Amino acid sequence: MYAEKRDYKCYICGKKGVKLWRPYGDSDPFICAQCAEKRQIKMQYNKRIWSKNPDGTVEGVRTFRWMPLPIWTVNEDGLVPSYEGPNQNGENIPSTPRLIIYLERGISERHSGKTELLPAIPHKNGGVWTYVAAPEECLLWWRNLPTR
Ligand SMILES: [Zn+2]
Repeated sequence: MYAEKRDYKCYICGKKGVKLWRPYGDSDPFICAQCAEKRQIKMQYNKRIWSKNPDGTVEGVRTFRWMPLPIWTVNEDGLVPSYEGPNQNGENIPSTPRLIIYLERGISERHSGKTELLPAIPHKNGGVWTYVAAPEECLLWWRNLPTR
């Protein structure tokens, strides 16, 4: 894999050998799950009322009643619950690698305040793959790294 092209470690705590994230649209700084968890922003979701359609599908109608989302921890697959809130069964299922954090000034020249992080999957050119374009083998490499 291409991690050796670049020092694959957390810019904040220096941790190596774990999954790392980077700001949306950028290739640094790299940030680990634990540093992201400590900086997570308390988010709210648009509460939905669930109903079953005649064809059996379930639909959630947004109420615009904003409810607090639970504090997340990143799971072994590098996922947290989506910011959509619980599903029709009331469950917050980890399904997104997108981490929304508050990045204090001084860590990055280009990013501070509310910052969206995506997986840092090194590219052979020294940058990172955009998450949607990363080849399966690169996604697997990232997913197989320990989360913490
Ligand atoms: Zn860290």
